[in-house]
Amino acid sequence: MKIFAIISILFFSFTLAGCEPRLYRDKQVMMGTFVEVVSPDPRAAAIAFNEMKRIEKLFSLYDPESELSALNRDGEVKASPEVIFVIQKSIEFWEATQGAFDITVAPLAQLWGFKDKDFRVPGDEEIATARGLTGSDKISVNLTESMVKLGLPGMKIDCGAVAKGFAVDQAIAAVKHEGITECLVSAGGDIYCLGGRRGSPWIIAVQDPGRRGFKGTLRLRDRAVATSGDYEQFFVQDSKHFSHIIDPLTGYPADGGIASVTVIADDCLTADALATAFCVKGKSAVAGLLARFPGAEVKFIKR
Ligand code: AMP
Ligand code: MG
Repeated sequence: MKIFAIISILFFSFTLAGCEPRLYRDKQVMMGTFVEVVSPDPRAAAIAFNEMKRIEKLFSLYDPESELSALNRDGEVKASPEVIFVIQKSIEFWEATQGAFDITVAPLAQLWGFKDKDFRVPGDEEIATARGLTGSDKISVNLTESMVKLGLPGMKIDCGAVAKGFAVDQAIAAVKHEGITECLVSAGGDIYCLGGRRGSPWIIAVQDPGRRGFKGTLRLRDRAVATSGDYEQFFVQDSKHFSHIIDPLTGYPADGGIASVTVIADDCLTADALATAFCVKGKSAVAGLLARFPGAEVKFIKR
């Protein structure tokens, strides 16, 4: 659970001397994190939460009725356009990152105990077996029949690295559809800033992981920001730190010495996926990946 998100939002929800309209602020626990909506329009939060609940129902691995649970159980599913979109986008990120971003990493994450919080360091053979079940090239999407299939028995998908960003984008699209022009949606560090905060940019503070205080502030308007880090979910064994972000190429938790990565992009799905990918690939991947996703910017904080 991303309870300790390192991006905090700085904003001022009080009315200054009664001369400005107030900002409405609402918070709910959803998708395993705190979701917060801030807007001068009182309708924004309900619209955003409804849309995000709809998306959560499609992607949740805790709900046996979700499309993703059905896919993991049966190896195939007739999927909604939203699930097909996110899976296709994820395959694109898999290609762009030479396999470092991989939604089929679930059997590895489970092996290391991140699914059931029963952490352990697995043996080489177990890792090799689980690695054999990964690879987004083994997912097939049939657009005419809206079918998604997994190529091997035992393969499983986990969209945890990208679904929150997508849900934020969907929430923003829904509030925009109702004519709302200023709104911030934050799902535990995955944020989209629609328009400004009463005309000025939204101010986002990037917190220093493991320390008090902030690393700096971002001033954003019509942009998304997402943060991933190995400080969020990890376990320590024999003084070694094992992160919940797995390098699918080795089968081991990513270990680039990075405490957190913050990515700014035009949409939150891209920011979310790239932030996870940079945790695996490290700084050496910046030039290549930003050339492929030109609207994006990245900031690293070392462990
Ligand atoms: P995030 O917090 O967005 O960085 O997503 C982290 C989550 O994505 C993990 O808890 C896993 O469920 C999943 N995950 C772990 N490693 C990877 C990877 N290499 N590619 C895609 N998803 C991953
Ligand atoms: Mg992510």
